Amino acid sequence: MKINDIRTSEIYFGNRALSEAEHVIRTLGKRALVVTGRNSADESGAYPDIAGLLERNGISHVRYSGVRENPSVSSCFEGAELGRAEGCDFVIAAGGGSAIDAGKAAAFYLANPGSAREEIFNVTGDHSRPLPLLAVPTTAGTGSEANRYSVLTEDGGAKKHTYKTGYSYPSVSVVCPRYTYSMPEKYSLSTALDAFAHSIESYLSPKSTEQSREYAMSSASAIWDVLKDWPGPLNEEDREKLSRSAMYAGAAIDVTGTGFPHPMGYGLTLGYGVPHGSACALFEDAFIRYNMITKEGRRLLGEFCGSLNVSPEELGDRLMRLPGVELHIGQDTAEELISRVEAASNFRNSPYILSRGEMSDIYKRLFK
Ligand code: NAP
Ligand code: ZN
Repeated sequence: MKINDIRTSEIYFGNRALSEAEHVIRTLGKRALVVTGRNSADESGAYPDIAGLLERNGISHVRYSGVRENPSVSSCFEGAELGRAEGCDFVIAAGGGSAIDAGKAAAFYLANPGSAREEIFNVTGDHSRPLPLLAVPTTAGTGSEANRYSVLTEDGGAKKHTYKTGYSYPSVSVVCPRYTYSMPEKYSLSTALDAFAHSIESYLSPKSTEQSREYAMSSASAIWDVLKDWPGPLNEEDREKLSRSAMYAGAAIDVTGTGFPHPMGYGLTLGYGVPHGSACALFEDAFIRYNMITKEGRRLLGEFCGSLNVSPEELGDRLMRLPGVELHIGQDTAEELISRVEAASNFRNSPYILSRGEMSDIYKRLFK
């Protein structure tokens, strides 16, 4: 089914979405650069389906499978170099958020030969628009299929930066819940927590609109239905709910951006290997508690939690415990991570703005 209420990309949703989108995909180009991670595009069934569609339509392709979790700028650049050498005129990204974000970056580099790697974080009017991009997610978390963000890790792995422009949306997205069935439980949980984090952080953002709050609220309710009884085997209905919710939560953050749990989570992902969504979830309890101090935060959390039928305290506690992460982080390392958080623009994106001392308290409480 074609999704009509998200206008960022042309989105097809459902287990037959790829064939429903075939007439559009065949207009994207004649030779595709297919960007994937190591295994997920094959294990999920997405790559064989895409290869079949391309062959049926006389479109050739070359595959770059060098994307890893938290994709490095260099891997995106390398993928684009392959695509350029092979004469590709559009990009297909199949995989989790890492592959889709890498596909967005490769589409930029391919359209801008001669640009340096780091130029992607300072796109100006002199740069060309990226090549067309088809996004096929195999996780249900980031919502990258419905937004303009591409979160990339600087070479060396110390920091994440976001590439985003008015043209960095996928041209077409195919969201097929069955491609998420093969996800291991660790990532099913982490990606669901990520989509939930997008919903709550977007809902509390001062930049939210009536529409973004509607996207955020509908996805939060559906994800909470699954998370409140976690763990449990996920059936097809749950998978569909999670894929749909991740997509709407992704559209919500396209309007608002995320809040401080995201930049706080990046340090745990890059430094300690905690998957992205689980890392953010650890900080949602603090996000809720501090925002409850403000009148506006209490009002918004009252609406949000009321509609999930859970108290703010119970919600925070559940989100913090679900990842099952136990870490010790020393004071010096915590101070270094905090400096990076302070430099992130989304750190101030909620009614309550944390002080440095409060961030320190959060790290002590969670990781002493
Ligand atoms: P991911 O990093 O893309 O994938 C995590 C792991 O799951 C990888 O090992 C991947 O394998 C595997 N995997 C993915 N789908 C699978 C499937 N269907 N079956 C089996 N294995 C599967 O995870 P993600 O949480 O979707 O993406 C996280 C990245 O997105 C981070 O870099 C984060 O910063 C970014 N992000 C972006 C946005 C945005 O709006 N653009 C929002 C939030 C987060 P392979 O290595 O084989 O692919
Ligand atoms: Zn996220």
